[in-house]
Amino acid sequence: MAKRVYLFHEGSKDDRDLLGGKGANLCEMTGLGLPVPFGFVITTSTCREYFQAGNKLPSLLEQEYRVALDLVEKKMGARFGDPDNPLLFSVRSGAPVSMPGMMNTILNLGLNDEIVEGLARRTNNPRFAYDSYRRFIQMFADVVLDVDGHKFEHELQRYKVAHNKSLDVDMSADDWREIIAIYKTLAKMPEDPFEQLKLAVEAVFRSWHTPRAIVYREMNNIDDSLGTAVTVQAMVFGNFGDESGSGVAFTRNPATGERQCFGEYLFNAAGEDVVAGIRTPLPVSALAERMPAVYEQLHTTQSLLEKHYRDMQDIEFTVQDGAFYVLQTRSGKRTGRAAIKIAVDMVREDLITEREALMRVSPEHVEAFLHPMVDPAAKRDIVATGLPASPGGATGRIVFSAEEAEEECAAGHTVILVRRETTPEDIHGMRVAAGVLTELGGMTSHAAVVARGMGVCAITGCSTLGIDYAAGTATTVDGVTLRRGDVITLDGTSGEVMLGDIAKIEASDSDDFQVLLGWADKYRRLRVRANADTPEDAVKARELGAEGIGLCRTEHMFFAAERIDIMRAMILAETIEERQVFLDQLLVFQHDDILKLFKIMDGLPVTIRLLDPPLHEFLPQHSEDIAALSAKIGKSVKQIRDIAERLAEVNPMLGFRGCRLSVVYPEITQMQVKAIMGAAAEAIEAGYRPYPEIMIPLVVNVREIRLITDIIDKCIQEMARAKHVSIPYKIGTMMETPRAALGADRLAPEVEFMSFGTNDLTQMTYGFSRDDAGRFIPKYLKEKLIDMDPFVSLDQRAVGRLMQIAINESRSKKKGIKYGICGEHGGDPRSIKFCHDLGLDYVSCSPYRVPIARIAAAQANVGGEQPD
Ligand code: PEP
Ligand code: MG
Repeated sequence: MAKRVYLFHEGSKDDRDLLGGKGANLCEMTGLGLPVPFGFVITTSTCREYFQAGNKLPSLLEQEYRVALDLVEKKMGARFGDPDNPLLFSVRSGAPVSMPGMMNTILNLGLNDEIVEGLARRTNNPRFAYDSYRRFIQMFADVVLDVDGHKFEHELQRYKVAHNKSLDVDMSADDWREIIAIYKTLAKMPEDPFEQLKLAVEAVFRSWHTPRAIVYREMNNIDDSLGTAVTVQAMVFGNFGDESGSGVAFTRNPATGERQCFGEYLFNAAGEDVVAGIRTPLPVSALAERMPAVYEQLHTTQSLLEKHYRDMQDIEFTVQDGAFYVLQTRSGKRTGRAAIKIAVDMVREDLITEREALMRVSPEHVEAFLHPMVDPAAKRDIVATGLPASPGGATGRIVFSAEEAEEECAAGHTVILVRRETTPEDIHGMRVAAGVLTELGGMTSHAAVVARGMGVCAITGCSTLGIDYAAGTATTVDGVTLRRGDVITLDGTSGEVMLGDIAKIEASDSDDFQVLLGWADKYRRLRVRANADTPEDAVKARELGAEGIGLCRTEHMFFAAERIDIMRAMILAETIEERQVFLDQLLVFQHDDILKLFKIMDGLPVTIRLLDPPLHEFLPQHSEDIAALSAKIGKSVKQIRDIAERLAEVNPMLGFRGCRLSVVYPEITQMQVKAIMGAAAEAIEAGYRPYPEIMIPLVVNVREIRLITDIIDKCIQEMARAKHVSIPYKIGTMMETPRAALGADRLAPEVEFMSFGTNDLTQMTYGFSRDDAGRFIPKYLKEKLIDMDPFVSLDQRAVGRLMQIAINESRSKKKGIKYGICGEHGGDPRSIKFCHDLGLDYVSCSPYRVPIARIAAAQANVGGEQPD
């Protein structure tokens, strides 16, 4: 028969599965010789036995834990059920995986009407004894007897009002005695302590199946069959008198990471009073003055635990009549700033290795260094929630158009641009806005991709908002109306929209962050490039450590005010000659922009993608814009409307876009190649080292690549005749259609690199529109129809499989192809790990995600290594 009961000295931290996290930790601390109130743990396998037997305790269990209990009595010098020298227990749950607050706990178990008298006598503190007893009844009745806890609160409140008492501390022993009498009318309490214990153990087992625990497990993917252990531990009391108290202490400051004892202490109070916030605790340093020996013990315990666990610890302790006890230790929660400082400091202190330091940092921690964040402690008045499309926090006045955004900003105001969705026409507004909020659109919609690229906070797919441009309002499903000019705050990390100006924490900066990034670079294999379309993006990208540009979406170069109408005129041209006139003008802009990119990315590859979006996206929608264009380019409004109508498509994302534009309008491609190679030649002449990589989008077969490569080659040869420079260039393809992925063996001989465009690849694999999926993805997640938004975290099962097939089959045909990813997944840590495992050469992501990607790439590499 497997052992069901473990005394604290019989287990260790490695027994989490069997003894639960809490039990294993208490065993570990006991083993370290720390003053832990003694006790025992009933195993998780006993819990499973209990469920298998139809909620029945194994017949021998009581016998087993009574043996253990004898030993606890000896160790603690008190006896369970003995009125003259009573021993009380806490009975707690403890799952192998932390489920904070989800299951049940009973404190002060072992009291009854007789024993409480004994406790009062022995402690010479009747007030404390009766207070403990009423707390026990309240918890026991709630957890074991299923009596609604509010009934007790209600009675207590009534009593206090009737007797003119406002706080618990105003209650005397007699008051508590009366409350106990009232409580006992609400719950039929067993008087036998052993009966209480048995019922409590069962109740803790059963609490594995409380609705909140089930939901928590579902949300956190915790195995339902694990079960909980039960920890039965001798009670010590912080509310024994003035020489007693309870506290919580961190071994380092959890906000800043400074190495200092940081915490709170309440004299003459039980542990739960510290967390309940009824009384204001003192800083833990108050102990140093009043009880120096105890403070010293706390200090020694802290150092020992931090060294032992090699991480910052959050310790709960109690002082009973001058004796110090440790109740719990765990890795402390910390801010991003603290996480990075602690990780770097601990390497310097020789506590952990550089590799371990890297593994201690999460993407959220890094974000604190890149954007201002909404203060987690601030009160939030949430009116709507959407998709967390671009992280950080932003506050501003609501505007409903890009033009308004510019005007308001020019007048010195900060704005949040609220749109049903955004299009390239809104970019000038997005650029000046502090944040962007859209009703429609998923995580790879225009708004999401562009905002992320700019480092602007954004929430997309906020489908509970009804936007009425004409009225200048956005109304939530709950009927709250947000008006033009109202101040709102966006939390782009959580997706929450809040009323008013909510406090934010400024982006941190520290040398420690740079040190950590340096280690990331040392330990990663994957290269990290940036998706950057403008010189500003490129400068930011390089500053944040990008090793080149993995995607320059050339279409984004045409939206500036002085260019867009030339672009439109080019699209509306009805003959090649007419088109060529405008292409020649665009060439100048394109050449200059690309030259700037080559200079900024000197010595690094710059992947420039040929024009990709459907052309109608560039055309104006509103009558006044069409009229203005008509006046400018000499085409009638009707002509413009007719051509626009011809270009319009039912399914534009699956339509006339990508390399199909090159097939039908080779002259556009020629202009782009001239701009790229001309800029490269000029950069070389100026002493720079450009490495252009020309990328063909949305390819489905090798014939497209051959045709376009032919256009590119001819163009380059012509230029080579005119300029005598040799330019090291590469031609490659995006892999963003399922057909390209499945036919990669045929594409391989014609290309030098393949870059997975996982935004389109996800869209086409799922058949979910990347621009509209925001409407149903939240429901899909809620209903568990999908585990993850596939536009956020790469779907490894199907999209990943297509990538795997593409790599295997192309590699079998040609060695030396470089593989990358430039869809939004290239900045998602989970997807980066997958890309690392697939053997890609690089990931490319928006500039602000480059540091996160550097760390995630290192974690992917280090995580797979054996610990050193
Ligand atoms: C993609 O489809 O993943 C991609 C990078 O291209 P775009 O987002 O511009 O379509
Ligand atoms: Mg694409």
